[in-house]
Amino acid sequence: MVYAQKIKRIKAVGLLSGGLDSTLAAKLMIDQGINVYLIHFTTPFDSESPKKTGRSSVSTAIRQLGNIPLMRITMKHDFLEMLIHPKYGYGKGMNPCIDCRIISLKKAGQYMEQIGASFIFIGEVVGQRPMSQHKKAMNIIDQDSGLQGYILRPLSAALLEPTTPEKKGWIDRNALLSLSGRSRKGQIALARQKGITDYPSPAGGCLLTDKNFSERFRDYLAFTRRPSLDDIPLLKVGRHFRLENGDKIIVARDEQEGEFLISQYHEKNHLFFPEDFSGPVVMLKGDSLDKAVEKMMQYTNKALPVGARINYWHNGIKRILFLGEMPGAGIKG
Ligand code: SF4
Repeated sequence: MVYAQKIKRIKAVGLLSGGLDSTLAAKLMIDQGINVYLIHFTTPFDSESPKKTGRSSVSTAIRQLGNIPLMRITMKHDFLEMLIHPKYGYGKGMNPCIDCRIISLKKAGQYMEQIGASFIFIGEVVGQRPMSQHKKAMNIIDQDSGLQGYILRPLSAALLEPTTPEKKGWIDRNALLSLSGRSRKGQIALARQKGITDYPSPAGGCLLTDKNFSERFRDYLAFTRRPSLDDIPLLKVGRHFRLENGDKIIVARDEQEGEFLISQYHEKNHLFFPEDFSGPVVMLKGDSLDKAVEKMMQYTNKALPVGARINYWHNGIKRILFLGEMPGAGIKG
């Protein structure tokens, strides 16, 4: 009688952003017979808006990779702590990419232990991103995450020192790639070959790499005693004005942003929205009521008649205010 020998497949944890590189890294591992478990990290600084497409790039990637288990992890307070005091500093914006990779990989390492996986793989390409994807930064990331030797970068592995999974023969190093630099030609050719047809255009990183958003975030940190990740969604919408006395006014740019500001109303803040005219929703953090109404008038297309009515919410109380005698110079309850 012939008994089939049960071969235990090596498990590995992969970081999946939903972009082409991480999808291809996962595909290369699956094709080598590795039992792949994926993790997707979410932060409030993610720039993707699934509402626009109706589906996220992560679910599209998972669909193309087959039935791969996916763990979604939302970054919390330790991420914010890191963001305020990054050991390796910021990139061009407020992006602490090296520290961000370290914290993500530490969490991936915990998951690896939890499920009894043997190594971690990521879709990084040598020389693709200035801050975190060069060899020196990769060494720091591997060391500080406590996973040195156990982080495989399948797309560039042939250019890097062999890792434990390669040395132990869990992975065939000859089937790994030597991609480098910012060009995506190699990845696009590989995607075609592997039947990966649906992937997003290259993204420049999260919102923290954006100059304007970074300025807004810096200002937020400078004026906020107890920063919280819960405040970040508000930084993504509207026109923001910091007044000399430190008060903050946010003016919605369209109806959707207006609805969002209304949904974010907190009784400590002041919220203004038009009752009988067409104009923007305005949020005020502070006490400068007149300035907030001035901003509302500034972004209202027509000059408003005296007595125009404004909905006003504060301290859990909803009232109607009437625009005063002088344009922009006061409101009456
Ligand atoms: S771009 Fe943003 S999410 Fe990506 S590594 Fe840098 S800080 Fe982290």
